[in-house]
Amino acid sequence: MNNYPKIVLKPGKERSLQRFHPWVFSGAIEAVTKELTDGEIVEVYDSKKEYIATGHYQDEGSISVRIFTFEQSVIDEEFWKFKIQKAIALRKTLGLFKNENTNAFRLIHGEGDLMPGLIIDYYNENAVIQFHSYGMYLLKDTFVKVLSDLLGDALKCIYNKSETTLAKGENKTSQNGYLLKEKSSEIVIKEYDNQFIVDIEEGQKTGFFIDQRENRKLLEKYCTDKKVLNVFGYTGGFSVSALKGGAKMVHSVDSSQKAIDLCNKNIALNFGDTDRHASFATDAFEFLDNMESDYDVIVLDPPAFAKHLHLREKGLKGYRNINNKVIHKIKKGGVLFTFSCSQAISNEDFRTMVFTAAAQAKREVKILHQLSQGADHPINIYHPESEYLKGLVLYID
Ligand code: SAH
Repeated sequence: MNNYPKIVLKPGKERSLQRFHPWVFSGAIEAVTKELTDGEIVEVYDSKKEYIATGHYQDEGSISVRIFTFEQSVIDEEFWKFKIQKAIALRKTLGLFKNENTNAFRLIHGEGDLMPGLIIDYYNENAVIQFHSYGMYLLKDTFVKVLSDLLGDALKCIYNKSETTLAKGENKTSQNGYLLKEKSSEIVIKEYDNQFIVDIEEGQKTGFFIDQRENRKLLEKYCTDKKVLNVFGYTGGFSVSALKGGAKMVHSVDSSQKAIDLCNKNIALNFGDTDRHASFATDAFEFLDNMESDYDVIVLDPPAFAKHLHLREKGLKGYRNINNKVIHKIKKGGVLFTFSCSQAISNEDFRTMVFTAAAQAKREVKILHQLSQGADHPINIYHPESEYLKGLVLYID
């Protein structure tokens, strides 16, 4: 028998959980069996006292419980080991382990792997773990043990990068640092024919935007002899792909000097000293205002403009603004790769935003591809929010 504290829901509030959506909002709770502390494991019951799910209680924000199982279980090391084994099996199905082409992928994708609050990225045998909930953070020793057991020699280090992702409460901050060994040298990953230096300590998020892998590959096809602009380019992922695809000139723009420095290093790593690339450490909005109108291909991959639902309208306005600028200025017959990585913006919102930006620019626009994140960032079918990356490839006349 388990002895986890119980949460009882108000009548009717069990419906989304019965459809396996993994969040319980604070307004749905009728009663609790004891006063709960942040990160505690709790069982959720419907108003008829039937068990529904188990998850982590969270005392900040509107989501009160993030569910990690819908089967009543003892939550011990074996439980987590089984879940991580399942996540590894999925990546094996994708052919990502011992793959000659690619040695960087997402191993655990939060709700997508029914482990809300936990992100683990794997960079050529170096793991970066990012906790987005205190409940998951409390389990960090368990995850170190389980990952070591399951990956063995294929795990060189584990770096915890959660300083900015955990809510800052008393005793709750998590300093970035190694949980298992230290990386022994600069991390270089392979993505198809390209190589990238990944700075797991100083880089953004866990170090690299692995989620764009397949979209970068697609870009290659469109770049032969083209002049390409990569806006919000970070460390040059799309720029390297564009050059690999035979672009005659690539411009990378990012406001972070650190990102641009690493972008230049990545270009040199793949192409040596080349005059086909130029980088600009500058604000993208200013750059777009003053840019030339002779780009054949443009990549627009901004940071999340709407991190929460209440920022949706403002975020959409920001996306519309930059999309309008590039659709207006791109060369006739040009190709635009445009993205949003905001969870709060739906596919429909995104499509409507691009539609409006195109109509305002009075250009003839066709959709060539509809894109999302790579399959190692699986979308939990019961949790539409886990489909966070939306992309459209447009042909603009
Ligand atoms: N396309 C990249 C990921 C982009 S992440 C890849 O595939 O790797 C978003 C990037 O936007 C970050 O590198 C961030 O530094 C940059 N950024 C944020 N605000 C910006 C601004 N106002 N102007 C230019 N770049 C900005």
